[in-house]
Amino acid sequence: VIQLTGVERTFPSDPPVHALRDVHLTVRRGEHLAIVGPSGSGKSTLLNTLGLLDRPTAGSYLLDGVETTGLGDLERTSLRGSRIGFVFQSFHLLPYRTVDENVMLAEAYRRPRPGRGRGGRLARAHQALEQVGLGHRVGFRPDRLSGGERQRVAIARALLSDPALLLCDEPTGNLDTENTLSVLELFDDLCAQGMTLVVITHDDAVSRRAGRRVRITDGRLAEEAK
Ligand code: ATP
Ligand code: MG
Repeated sequence: VIQLTGVERTFPSDPPVHALRDVHLTVRRGEHLAIVGPSGSGKSTLLNTLGLLDRPTAGSYLLDGVETTGLGDLERTSLRGSRIGFVFQSFHLLPYRTVDENVMLAEAYRRPRPGRGRGGRLARAHQALEQVGLGHRVGFRPDRLSGGERQRVAIARALLSDPALLLCDEPTGNLDTENTLSVLELFDDLCAQGMTLVVITHDDAVSRRAGRRVRITDGRLAEEAK
């Protein structure tokens, strides 16, 4: 799914910051990769690069065999919308909307599909909530859910566009142990279904659960033994 070759990201500040240096990384379909490293080491920059939110200053990024570095902004946005889902530490749910509306509205904003009415979109949102084990929470507002359930709603929202790749920046950073476990179990299920998962985490329990772990130090990537 992902192939980075010699990727550099230098921010043209004074002095320039080399956030990524000569990064090589291959991630296959269905793989669960954890990225660890100290604050400021380049983790978010790497995730933003993988998510086509940021562009390398050198090197190559193949996403599903497509070289992305030379694409225009519109093509990158459309590729992002169809191939990539994002999950963050804060869940970013709308408090006065039910969970199904939260999931549905994401699609309305991101990739409005003509010819599908509100009923069809709501049905698709219910399906995504079933997929994350929250079918019984349809109609609830976020404030009635646990942290783990809220994060699973955010994951359902990310799944709505059928992404091949799910990128997560500290997805369990706001969760206690029990809720973290419920999200990790969901991650295992998703990978078993062929989803590719890249997760930034400070939590050892979370990175140990991944199939593979890489460490970034000062913009350089190194594979870690399990
Ligand atoms: P944290 O664990 O604190 O989130 P991180 O590993 O995600 O850290 P990055 O956010 O990727 O780190 O930042 C890597 C380096 O790039 C840091 O030195 C940061 O200051 C710098 N940096 C990030 N974004 C920019 C920017 N837009 N302009 C200039 N420098 C930047
Ligand atoms: Mg970061």
